[in-house]
Amino acid sequence: MNRELETFNYSISHDLRAPLRSMSGFAQALMDGQASKLGPQEADYVRRIANSARRMDTLLQDLLEYSRVARASMPPTSVNLDGVVTEIITLREREIEQTKAQIEVKSPLGAVTAHMPTVQQILANLIDNGLKFTAKEKTPHIRVWSEPVAAEGQGTVNGNSILRVWVEDNGIGIEKEFHEKIFGLFERLHPSHAFPGTGLGLAIVRKGVERMGGKVGLESRPNQGSRFWVDLPAATEQTK
Ligand code: ADP
Repeated sequence: MNRELETFNYSISHDLRAPLRSMSGFAQALMDGQASKLGPQEADYVRRIANSARRMDTLLQDLLEYSRVARASMPPTSVNLDGVVTEIITLREREIEQTKAQIEVKSPLGAVTAHMPTVQQILANLIDNGLKFTAKEKTPHIRVWSEPVAAEGQGTVNGNSILRVWVEDNGIGIEKEFHEKIFGLFERLHPSHAFPGTGLGLAIVRKGVERMGGKVGLESRPNQGSRFWVDLPAATEQTK
């Protein structure tokens, strides 16, 4: 199965992305060099070709990411969540400034025993969704905090307690009947002209969380915002 996935990844990276790059490149060349010679309709067609190629490339990159999370080995270490969240916010500084979004982090978030790049990917996807799925007239307000939770029955997983990380937004919210469906591959509740995306972000989140022995879920109602939670084994004192 791993070999098959490797072939799949290789094919996506080379056989599928290469022709797309050439489509984008030639469309760009037409827009740059020939702009004055193209009529408005031709220019519009070329722009659409370039946009479609870009969209498909984003889709392929997300598929590669899903495939990586599905098969990569995930050696666990002690992951300091404050560091991870600070880095995510720093990388989005420009967008946060432009949208005037507020991100409130209730430090200290604590530490989990998990695979660092996957935790980063998961929290980035949840924060990005919080920033994205906001009504046009609203300023995004995200809150991140954590709390210890008791696991079913005994309060511990393999002797470790569990840390629940919350990412809450004041966005458009999600109808209860879709709370499970949105974690599926390519599942989207909105057309891409309303909110861009591939429908793979939450599938990557779920796969990553489950591969690290955790769980993910949400509480949300339409127009009332959403809060996603991620449960992961808390880092023990010695590994913090
Ligand atoms: P994408 O963001 O690429 O559309 P996701 O897999 O991240 O894909 O999310 C799937 C769908 O779930 C989204 O298209 C959206 O309809 C819904 N969704 C995800 N996060 C939120 C959120 N924070 N608020 C409202 N809707 C959300």
